[in-house]
Amino acid sequence: NPFTGPSPDDVVVNAQSKGVKSDKQKAKPKEAERITNGISHVDHGKSTLMGRLLYDLKVIDQRSLDKLRKEADAIGKSSFALAWVMDQTSEERSRGVTVDIATNSFETEKTRFTILDAPGHRDFIPNMIAGASQADFAILVVDAGTNSFESGLKGQTKEHALLVRSMGVQRLIVAVNKMDMVSWSEGRFQEISQQMSAFLTSAGFQPKNVTFVPCSGLTGGNVVNPPPEGTMLWYTGQTLVQELDASETTKRAIEQPLRLSIFDIFRGGVTNPLSVAGRIAAGSLQVGDQVLVMPSGEKATIKGIEIDNGAADWAVAGQMVTLHLTDIDPVHLRYGDVLCSPSNPIKNVKSFTAKILAFEHVLPMSVEVHQGRLNVAATVSRLVAVLDKSTGEVTKKKPRAVQPGAVARVVVELENAIPLEGRVILRAGGSTVAAGLIESSS
Ligand code: GDP
Repeated sequence: NPFTGPSPDDVVVNAQSKGVKSDKQKAKPKEAERITNGISHVDHGKSTLMGRLLYDLKVIDQRSLDKLRKEADAIGKSSFALAWVMDQTSEERSRGVTVDIATNSFETEKTRFTILDAPGHRDFIPNMIAGASQADFAILVVDAGTNSFESGLKGQTKEHALLVRSMGVQRLIVAVNKMDMVSWSEGRFQEISQQMSAFLTSAGFQPKNVTFVPCSGLTGGNVVNPPPEGTMLWYTGQTLVQELDASETTKRAIEQPLRLSIFDIFRGGVTNPLSVAGRIAAGSLQVGDQVLVMPSGEKATIKGIEIDNGAADWAVAGQMVTLHLTDIDPVHLRYGDVLCSPSNPIKNVKSFTAKILAFEHVLPMSVEVHQGRLNVAATVSRLVAVLDKSTGEVTKKKPRAVQPGAVARVVVELENAIPLEGRVILRAGGSTVAAGLIESSS
């Protein structure tokens, strides 16, 4: 098996923040780290498929799966065991401010992935989109079973695709699942691909950014391992995991200006008195580089880089890194601060206009703006317009309220100026009221 997977305890973020060192973390640095998000109509098999991915990539072990199988058998639903893998590990993984988004990491030869899922309410749209708001690309799971696809297409599947696209996710991998139920039929696969292509294009996805992969989460065919012998001889494409690995997203992110959001700060370390940890969201950095810390606007020099507890000379978008910094007073560094390149800095933002997807009613109201560990008090000060979900065109100016499920343009004023761009989550009273994409700021 060419794939190596970390144990559930092996999530880099956790390990770094606890300062834990384990042998497993000394694995070679991955080319990239990526966040992905699985979405599907209820019962199309998302949980089973994700469980299958985690199992075949050896993220979970046989013993844990056997335990789940036993519990599932006890209630007469043995096929649920794989789905529970996702739920169980999700709950254990939940952390930080994004409480309704849990993460699971797994790695292939080339890439480390983080799957975002919502514990409990697996198909609850708000949680799903909150996940998508951090995703580089989404996996859309559709059921190839006769009739299931058609009903899903009319309902949630289409809605999910629209919402994910409206949040700026460009790349979509469509897992045409449960192929074992349709005898791995080429005709069925083609039929689904063609119908999906048509509406995904109308939802704003470019055909070159959409890939269809036939598979079966339950049997594991064409997920990590090849399809069963003698089936799908017509198929010349890749397995789901190969397709995930081939995603171009990370290459594009590396070419953008440096952005690293600080996840953890360590003082008084042995290697260096001041270190920070975080995921490089865009760009690259190397030892000796000068970086700008926002919002303080102070500069620091990178004295050393650690990836998976090993020293490195450079790092790129997608990787979790620990940076040893010099030439800066620690008072200028806080959780959620952004490290960027002095030549192409991120702006400190006091107010922004965003395209939002409302999960609850949005009115002019007090909210908290969240992005990663960043969290700031704010006010939705103006409802500019309600927008058409697929075209983005204004359908109603100055609405009194934005209804749940609607896409709208709003103005948000922040209590303090903070470095902010890209996707944000708006929360109020402990629940997620909207996910947004910043269009302009000042
Ligand atoms: P979710 O609601 O989308 O997360 O769907 P689940 O993963 O819970 O699966 C729903 C049902 O479909 C369960 O009974 C699964 O065992 C079944 N299922 C999932 N994937 C497959 C598959 O690839 N083939 C078959 N035959 N059944 C599947």
